Formats: sequence, C-alpha cells, structure tokens
Amino acid sequence: RMFNELQELKGNIRVYCRIRPFLPGQVAKQTAVEYIGENGELAVVNPSKQVKDRRRNFKFNKVFGPDSTQEEVYSDTQPLIRSVLDGYSVCIFAYGQTGSGKTYTMTGPNGASEEDWGVNYRALNDLFQISQSRRGSFNYEIQSTVQTNGLAVPDASMHPVTSTSDVVELMDIGLKNRAVGATSMNERSSRSHSVVSIHVRGKDLPSGAALHGNLHLVDLAGSERIDRSEATGDRLREAQHINKSLSALGDVIFALAQKNSHVPYRNSKLTQLLQSSLGGQAKTLMFVQLNPDATSYSETTSTLKFAERVS
Ligand code: ADP
Ligand code: MG
Repeated sequence: RMFNELQELKGNIRVYCRIRPFLPGQVAKQTAVEYIGENGELAVVNPSKQVKDRRRNFKFNKVFGPDSTQEEVYSDTQPLIRSVLDGYSVCIFAYGQTGSGKTYTMTGPNGASEEDWGVNYRALNDLFQISQSRRGSFNYEIQSTVQTNGLAVPDASMHPVTSTSDVVELMDIGLKNRAVGATSMNERSSRSHSVVSIHVRGKDLPSGAALHGNLHLVDLAGSERIDRSEATGDRLREAQHINKSLSALGDVIFALAQKNSHVPYRNSKLTQLLQSSLGGQAKTLMFVQLNPDATSYSETTSTLKFAERVS
C-alpha cells in the first residue's frame, strides 16, 4: 500500500540503474556491487574494511546487471516511445561518471551492429515504424534537432525527418561539432551534454484533432567531481559549469518528485531546454550508470545519492 502510494506520487519519473561489465583487459576485478535484486534492489559495499556499516542499500524501478543486453534494456523503455506518438513528452537521460556506460546505453558501442544498438536507434526506429503503421488513421509530421550543451550546433533549428538515418545524420553533425577544438573526442564528449530532440505533430484523421509529442534523448556529461589541483582556467570553469547544470537537473527532478509548487527550471540552460518535457504530463526516465569497479566506489556512491534523491 505504502509502496503504491509512493509510486503514484512519483508516477512520471522512473529510474533504472545499469551496471556495466568489467571490460576486457580491465585488471582490477574487485567490485563495489554486492547484490542486485529482481525488484530493483541494489547493495554496494565500501571496499575499505576500516569503515563501519560498509553496506548501503538502494531501490530503483529496475536494476540491469552487467549481463543485461541492449535489447532487454530497451524492452523496458519502449512503452515510453509509443506514448510520444500518443502526444506525451518524454525525456530519457543517462547519468553517471565518465566510463560508466552512458553512451553505450544511449547510442551503443562504436560501430555497433544492430544487436548492440542503444536506446536512441531503437527508439527512433520504433517511432518511425509505429507512425507508419498508424497511417490511415493518423498523419504524423516528425522533426528533429540535435544540440550539445544546448548550444554547440550552429543550426539547431528543426529539421523534418522521415527515417532513423535522417536523425543519425543530424547526430553525426552534432558529434563533429562536439569534437571541435578538443584534443580527443572522448575527452570532449565527456564534458558536454548531448541532446537529441524529436518533435511529433499528429493529426487524427477522422476527427482532425491534433496532438503534439516530444522525445528528448540526453547523454549527459560525466558527473565525476573534478580535482581542483588538476584542473585550472577554462577547464575548471567548464567542469564547474557541468556540475552546476547536473545539480540544477537534480533539483528540478527532485522538485517534481516532491510535487513542489516551485520547480527551479531557470537555473541552467539544460533545464530550460528540457522544461516542456519535465513535469506536467511529461514522462521521465533516468538511466543511472555505474562502473562496477571497487576503485570507483566513491563516484558510485555519489551517483547513487543523486539517483536516490530523484527517485
Ligand atoms: P560513458 O559514455 O559513460 O563515458 P561509455 O558508454 O563510453 O561510457 O562506456 C565506457 C566503455 O565501456 C566503452 O568501451 C563501452 O563500449 C563499454 N561499455 C559500457 N557499457 C557496456 C555494456 N553494458 N556492455 C559492454 N561494454 C560496455
Ligand atoms: Mg560518453
């Protein structure tokens, strides 16, 4: 009963935790993840034996372990995609430290085959497929824009799209812009947010009634805290800016989960950009990504605390 009330209260925000596997060649095999339950339970343990109460328990809508496939992850995401075509606004985020698998979940590994496709491609394919299957009763117009940090794409206007490859083309342009001026693209992309937005206008043919849906797919910048002794100047400012926008996002989702009357959308460009898709009737899904390695324990707990606050 209490759980149901809680679910109802937080109805439009769901949080999935995903733990990536150890990578081939990753030496340390000690993990901070102690237990993964069937019903969204997760326990992590502090690798330091000196600490009392080393175990911490968390509860999410779902936890995907290291062996989970892209298909399994997507099958729990798909209902949200369908609802975009019913006129809902949907926001899907990946949150976590650099290297925790955000891009893997959202996009897939580099040069992924269909089997390894992430949420983005699967969602887009479904969106176009379902919209076509409704032809005759619905007429859909779909447009897309790709932005990084809410700014970096010069022409961030809406482009009509009719297939997944149209959107992928926009994403490639976005990626190139994301890489401008950076020594390494990985480094660059870990320090910016990437936002793919899809806008759907539908017309119910018999009645002529209009509906309007949105989908935002957001690969957030790495959430790791920066070491002040290592970053200076522009780099430090950039990192502070990212941390500020991530905590602004946390504040917004927290306020929505609490049903606060004031939701602080205006505190960052990211939350302003996503305002129409957060709150109200909008549906939000946050992937909380974890690196399993015990050496990541402190980032893992800070990621989990962020997630706990919004879930
Ligand atoms: P992030 O975007 O959070 O910085 P990545 O998605 O780039 O992290 O993942 C880091 C590395 O781990 C990449 O080499 C990626 O292919 C790999 N990886 C992440 N998640 C998985 C997974 N679920 N299964 C296999 N490899 C993964
Ligand atoms: Mg990434």
